[in-house]
Amino acid sequence: MSNSVLIIDDSPLLRQKVVESLRGACLFDNYFEANDGFSAIKVLSREEIDMLICDVMMPKMDGFKLMEMLNKEKRFEDIMVIMLSANRGIFDKIKGLESGAIDYMTKPFHPHELALRVSILLRMKGLQKELKAKIVELERVTVLDALTGLYNQRYLYDTLRREYNRSERFNLKLSLIILDIDNFKDVNDTFGHQRGDVIIKEVARLLQTMLRGYDFAVRYGGDEFIIVLSQSTVIGAHIVAERLRKMIEENPLLIKLNGGKSVTASIGVSTFPDDTKEGYEALINRADQALYKAKREGRNRVAYGRL
Ligand code: GH3
Ligand code: MG
Repeated sequence: MSNSVLIIDDSPLLRQKVVESLRGACLFDNYFEANDGFSAIKVLSREEIDMLICDVMMPKMDGFKLMEMLNKEKRFEDIMVIMLSANRGIFDKIKGLESGAIDYMTKPFHPHELALRVSILLRMKGLQKELKAKIVELERVTVLDALTGLYNQRYLYDTLRREYNRSERFNLKLSLIILDIDNFKDVNDTFGHQRGDVIIKEVARLLQTMLRGYDFAVRYGGDEFIIVLSQSTVIGAHIVAERLRKMIEENPLLIKLNGGKSVTASIGVSTFPDDTKEGYEALINRADQALYKAKREGRNRVAYGRL
């Protein structure tokens, strides 16, 4: 990714000196210039700028006014500002740093010092970006199941709790499907654990194809999955569950992996508020009870949480 600097000073000579100092150290790909705060804002509105090197005393809009404007807008919050001013007094420096500048240098400046300070700040910025990206990745990984890429239990509890509260507040329906593969131990025993893993992954992929925008699928345990269907009635959930059951039973890849025999699954469905109003855990329990009913009644079927 290319990085850009904007140098703001009413003296073209000073701007040129700054550009030369930074170019000498190959610190930026793009150099932009402006002679006061107003023209700086014009550049900022059309260019992606990483750093400002900004004079304080300028005609029309001075450095502090410009800082005020930048501080108001979120899209400018990542821009680093170095103030470069002829005001050498300690109170000027304090005011500059308080206004949000990351560094304050005085004129006349030494090119090597400027280049060094800029390169240190760029390095800090780079590390900060890396850290942010790692945190985002880490947050993503902690809510995903490693084998299937579906969400995991941690995500389920957090999100279902919120979704349940929302449904309660806005008087919306909420359905939950629990699905468990039938006689999966036999598959493992016959074809080995690795083949079992491939089957689990394929079932997960099929679940994912059923989802609408707000719905999500979770690997709840070994061969057990949950799908949360927002704003879905019993009938809506029934349609999804039956479609899913058939999809698994008829899937050619699963049949092949299972030695020519259908892989089947049993499904329990529960709906808020029809089956329970006792909280999201009760909604899971109801679906679980329905799942065991489906198992008891012969497997490869859908059962419902109404007791
Ligand atoms: P049921 O029809 O009653 O569900 O019978 P089942 O054999 O499927 O029994 P159950 O659901 O209780 O057990 C699931 C089995 O899935 C237990 C375990 O050996 C296996 N299993 C759990 N996690 C994994 C996994 O990550 N990979 C593989 N290959 N097998 C797993
Ligand atoms: Mg099972």
